[in-house]
Amino acid sequence: MSLIPKSHPRAKSLFIREKLVHGFDKGLVAKEGLLAQGRGEAFDYLLGEKTGKNAKNAIKVAAAQLLLAKMPVISVNGNVAALCPKEIVKLSKQTKAKLEVNLFYTNEKRKKAIVSTLKKNGASEILGINPRDSAKLSGIDSARRIVDKNGIFSADVVVVPLEDGDRTMALRNAGKLVITFDLNPLSRTSQTASITIVDNVTRAIHVLIDETKKLSRKNKKELKNIVKNFDNKKNLSENIIQIKDNLTRRAKIA
Ligand code: ATP
Ligand code: MG
Repeated sequence: MSLIPKSHPRAKSLFIREKLVHGFDKGLVAKEGLLAQGRGEAFDYLLGEKTGKNAKNAIKVAAAQLLLAKMPVISVNGNVAALCPKEIVKLSKQTKAKLEVNLFYTNEKRKKAIVSTLKKNGASEILGINPRDSAKLSGIDSARRIVDKNGIFSADVVVVPLEDGDRTMALRNAGKLVITFDLNPLSRTSQTASITIVDNVTRAIHVLIDETKKLSRKNKKELKNIVKNFDNKKNLSENIIQIKDNLTRRAKIA
């Protein structure tokens, strides 16, 4: 039972925090994951805590790209498993994407907890758990470059919510098209991914699921047209301007 009253002005944000704390208590989330959430929250505040038009635009392109992919894979870490496990499984079914557990702070016990959470939420096959299937990405130091040879290693499109900059870069260097959710438009992940959804994963994932449903009725040519004109750098810069405009407005009121 939550102790947060629904009438609390920051209730939504506190509920998300509570999910992560529960996730930490259940062994899903790393201590560092709690801190990463805090960094995200600060940016969410500045963005106005809603899915803005730039995020919606990136989501549409991400949906089209996922439907065009030959072998899409969704990378799951502790924070994602704690925040939106049901939605991640739904997205993977909707787009025929594989699920791979891939942790920045690798830990077998935590991996098992994440796998069991995903299974409880309807996942059937989960990659990244069999050491015999591990492969190495080049360009980053040892523990963090391990991926599944049947998953991320062979994927053409990889979804990496809340990822670290070095790993995003390694995935791009390996020729992957990288889709990320990251509230910080300035992070290295945001700046190096192919499609950056600057929004809270807990909100954006629902919009992405709806969008993949909608776009699944379109043909390849129409999907390619959606992807063609997208410029991630431009979209990121518009997200930064959105923050600036929010701050300017707040500064005037004060
Ligand atoms: P980078 O390594 O990409 O430069 P960083 O080192 O600043 O980023 P990390 O801890 O590596 O940050 O990655 C976590 C990222 O996830 C942060 O940029 C943070 O803003 C973002 N983040 C945290 N919680 C959420 C959330 N719920 N939804 C979307 N993004 C989030
Ligand atoms: Mg980092």
